[in-house]
Amino acid sequence: MFLGIQPGFAQWSAQNHAERFEQLGTMLRSPNVYRTASGAPGHMYWQQKADHEISVELNDDNQSIKGWQKVTYYNNSPDPLKYLWIQLDQNERAKDSNTPKTAESSINPRMNLRQLENILWHDLDLGYKIHSVKDMTGKDIPVTINHTMMRVDLPQPLLPGQKTEFTVDWSFNIHDRMSFIGGRPGYEYFPNDGNYLYTMAEWFPRMAVYSDFEGWQNKQFAGRGEFALTFGDYKVKITVPADHMVGATGVLQNPQEVLSPTELQRWETAKKTYDKPVIIRTQAEAEKLEKAKSKDKKTWVFHAENVRDFAWTSSRKFIWDAMAVKQGGKDVMAMSYYAKEANPLWEQYSTRVVAHTIKSYAAKTFDYPYPTAISVEATNGMEYPMICFNYGRPDADGTYSDAIKYGMISVIIHEVGHNFFPMIVNSDERQWTWMDEGLNTFMQYMAEQEWDRNYPSRRGPAHKIVPYMRSEKNTLEPIMTNSENIIQFGPNAYAKPATALVILRETIMGRELFDYAFKEYAQRWMFKHPTPEDFFRTMEDASAVDLDWFWRGWFFGTEPVDIALETVNWYKMDNRTPAEKKADEKKAFEREEDYISKTFNQKDVPQTVVETDPATRDFYNSYNPFTLTPEDEKAYNDFMARLSPKEKELLNSGLNFYELKFKNLGGLVMPLIIQLNYVDGTSEVERIPAEIWRYDEWEVSKVFAKKKEVKSVLLDPYRETADIDESNNHWPQQYVPSRFEMFKGAGGVRGAASGDNPMKRAKSKK
Ligand SMILES: [Zn+2]
Repeated sequence: MFLGIQPGFAQWSAQNHAERFEQLGTMLRSPNVYRTASGAPGHMYWQQKADHEISVELNDDNQSIKGWQKVTYYNNSPDPLKYLWIQLDQNERAKDSNTPKTAESSINPRMNLRQLENILWHDLDLGYKIHSVKDMTGKDIPVTINHTMMRVDLPQPLLPGQKTEFTVDWSFNIHDRMSFIGGRPGYEYFPNDGNYLYTMAEWFPRMAVYSDFEGWQNKQFAGRGEFALTFGDYKVKITVPADHMVGATGVLQNPQEVLSPTELQRWETAKKTYDKPVIIRTQAEAEKLEKAKSKDKKTWVFHAENVRDFAWTSSRKFIWDAMAVKQGGKDVMAMSYYAKEANPLWEQYSTRVVAHTIKSYAAKTFDYPYPTAISVEATNGMEYPMICFNYGRPDADGTYSDAIKYGMISVIIHEVGHNFFPMIVNSDERQWTWMDEGLNTFMQYMAEQEWDRNYPSRRGPAHKIVPYMRSEKNTLEPIMTNSENIIQFGPNAYAKPATALVILRETIMGRELFDYAFKEYAQRWMFKHPTPEDFFRTMEDASAVDLDWFWRGWFFGTEPVDIALETVNWYKMDNRTPAEKKADEKKAFEREEDYISKTFNQKDVPQTVVETDPATRDFYNSYNPFTLTPEDEKAYNDFMARLSPKEKELLNSGLNFYELKFKNLGGLVMPLIIQLNYVDGTSEVERIPAEIWRYDEWEVSKVFAKKKEVKSVLLDPYRETADIDESNNHWPQQYVPSRFEMFKGAGGVRGAASGDNPMKRAKSKK
C-alpha cells in the first residue's frame, strides 16, 4: 500500500559508495593525555615558557640595530632537552638565503624591474650577526646556525621542570621594506622630509616552540609560513633618537621620562575618554620634529606579560592618538601611530576601528585580555601581540577612494583581530596558515558587517569563493596544506576556510550551536597551542553535530560544490472510486481513438477483414473494459474498509507530490536548500541535511508533499553553498548568463605591468 515504501530503500542498490561520510579516524592525530578526544587540553597538557629581558638601540644614521637579551627558558615538558632551537628570521633576507634559490623563475617576453630584482637578489649586508651566546657565568655556549634556525647546545640536558638562562648579543642592518626584498618589518624612507619610519618585528632571536605534537618546530622561515612562538613575559628597553615616538607590545613603564608634560596630560585624558580618540602628539608637533632631527637619545621601557612575541615601531614622524575601551571590567587603550602622509584618513578611522574590532571579536571569543591594542600605518598588514602594522594611505592631496578607505578599515580589523588568532589562541602558523588566517578572516567578515551593514566585504559570503573553487584542478589544494606549499595562498588559506566557517554557521550548524562551539574552542585554547584536531573535535564536541564529512570535504579535499536539480516529477494520489476511474480511462481511450482517426487517413489504409469464429464473437462484443464489474466494486469497498481514519484522510487530502532528483556533479556533498515557488505566488524553503547523500553520493531523490501547486523550483536560493554552476539549479530549466573575462593577448601588458612575483606568473602559464 502507498504508505509502505521505505524512503531511501532504492538507493541501497546504488554504486559509488565512497567515503564522504566516514569518520576522519586515522586522518587525525590520536587523542592522548595532552589533547583529549573532545578537543580540549588534556589532563597532562603542558607548554614551554620563555621570558625575555632585552636592551636594544636603534641607529637612525645607518638604519641598524644592536641588541642584548637574556632568555629564561622553562622546560615544562616531560622530556629532557639536550639543545634548544632559536629562530633567526632576519637570515631569511641574507645574501645566502634559500628563499630566492627556491623561488621558481623564468624569462618572459617583457620583464619589469621587480621581476629582475627577484632573479638577481641582492648584495646587501643583511641578516643577523650573532656576537655571542653565553651562560650566566659569561661562558660561551656552542651554537650551530642553519640559516634561520640556531641550535644552542646546552652544557647538560635541561630536565623536565627545570629552567635555564642564557644571553645573546646580536645586531643587524635594517632593510628597506619598500624595496623588492619586502617583508613586513624594516624601514620606510620619506625623501620629502628625509626621515625614517621603522616597524621592528621578527627583530630579536626568538625561541622556537617545543610541543607535544611537533617536538621542535624548526622548519625554516622562507618568508610566507609565519611563526610558531612560545609565550612568556618581556621587559624591553628601547633606545631611539630623543624626538622619536615609540609604540610597542606591552605597557610603557616610564611615560614621564619620554613624553612631554603636554603629552602626558593628553595621555591621562585619553585614558578616561571612551567616545573618541584623543590626539596625544599632533600632526603639527610631528611636522616640527621632522625638521629638527634631534641627535639626543631616549630610552623607552615596556613590560608585557604572557605574549608570544614583541614588536615595536619608532619614528619622529608619528602622530599618536588613543582612547579607552571597556573590556571585562578593565580598560584597554586603543591607539594609533601614523605619519602625516596617512591623514586625514587615519585620525578619522584607525583608533575607532581598533576599538570596534576588540568589542566585535571579544563578543564571540573572550574578553580582550591585554592592556593595549595598537594600529600603525606602515603601507602593509602584519600582526603582533597588541600591535600591528596596517595599510591605507590617501593620495598626496589627501583625497582617497572608497577602495582605500574600506581597504584600510578591513586591514585594521584583520590585523587587530589577529590578537585573538594566533596571538592568544596560539596556533602553529609555520604549519597551518588557515588556523589563524582562516578563522581571523571569518571573524573579520562579521566585524565588517557590524561596522556597516552594507560593508563591501571581499571574503566570507559563500558565492565569493566560487571563482577559486572553479579554478583549474591542478592549482587547487586542500586547506590542510603546509603554508609554504600553497599555490593560491589568499583563496586557499584565507577565503576558503573563512567561507567554510560562514557556511557552518549559517547553513550547517545554525548560529546558536556554532557560536557556542566556536567560543568554546577559543576559550579552551586561549594562551595555549591548539592543533587542527583540537578545533575539529571541539566544534563537534560542543554542538552534537557530526562534522567529519564537512572537514573531510572542505578542509581535506579540493572538490567544489556543484549540485544539479535534474528532474521534478509531479504526482497526485489516486483516490477515485472504481466508477470514476473507469470513466476517466474511457475518456482517455476515446481521446486516443480520436487522435488516431485524425492522424491517419483511413481511406488510404487497406482494410484487412478478419473473419472471427462465431463462437468467440459474442464474447468480444460483450466485453467492455470500461464497464464497472461487481469484482471491481468489492475490491474497492474491501480496500476502503481496511483503511484507518488517518489513512482515509490522507487519501482524500488532495496533496501534490513532487519528486525531485538531484545529481552531485562537483563531488563536495552539501545540504539541499530548495525553494518551492507556488502557483499562488507564495514560496517556501525546504532544508535537507547533507546526510541525504550518505547512501549514494552522486544521485538522490526527495519527495515533497504540498497542498499547493508548485510552479517552479530553485536550488540554493540564497547562494549559501558556493555552487560553482548555478545554471542547473532551476526547474523549469533557466538560462543564466555567464560572464567571461577578456585578457590581452600574448606579450601584452598583463604580466609585465602588474609587478608581482614572476614565479606565480610562470606557474599560471603552465
Ligand atoms: Zn592575517
